[in-house]
Amino acid sequence: MLGNLKREVLEAAVAAEISGLCVHGTGNFSAIDRESGLVAITPSGLARESLTLEDVPLLDLRGGLAEPGKRGKPSSESRMHIEAYLRRKDVAAVAHTHSPYATALAVLGRTIEPVTFEAVFYGIDVAVVGLFRPGTEELAKAAAEALDGSDVCLLKNHGALVVGASVEETLLKAKHLESVARTYYLALTLGGDAARPIPREELERYGQIPSS
Ligand code: 13P
Ligand code: ZN
Repeated sequence: MLGNLKREVLEAAVAAEISGLCVHGTGNFSAIDRESGLVAITPSGLARESLTLEDVPLLDLRGGLAEPGKRGKPSSESRMHIEAYLRRKDVAAVAHTHSPYATALAVLGRTIEPVTFEAVFYGIDVAVVGLFRPGTEELAKAAAEALDGSDVCLLKNHGALVVGASVEETLLKAKHLESVARTYYLALTLGGDAARPIPREELERYGQIPSS
């Protein structure tokens, strides 16, 4: 069932591992079929390079197992993905990563200031969610709430959460988020308080230019 959805999720998870957004199988990826309300999500803790489509389980929006994966259990962050889909009806995919520069800022409880124009690709604003244990209901609720005003948020001492209108778009936002975080980190290291964000009106004006 929903083989294409499973394939997209699996490919995003592998691509994230290859590009360094996720290491050692950390983070998790999902996509929803809004018609059936079923969510394809990466299984928990399995090495990405060994994953097959049969390993990708399907969940319903109550967290029930609609179709188990062949190996392992659904991601331990399934609740967080489901809460994001319930709260954001416009969203078709969710990515959770531990990408290092975004996570370094999450450790400090600091947002990622929009210091380069790539910030418009994920919506400029990055909320920071407080400290909650991974996999908990509390984290799921707090993270979904943070997505009210933003498509990306940082999870304190943990990582990032990103939502989007497709798996491809969501993965790209996660990459841009990490890229801006890296530049921000480098600028802070070199210049401290001189690392100023781009004025909002400049970012908004840039964001209106259609990409070629
Ligand atoms: P899973 O392997 O269970 O998806 O968990 C990884 C993770 O990032 C926990 O926060
Ligand atoms: Zn995590």
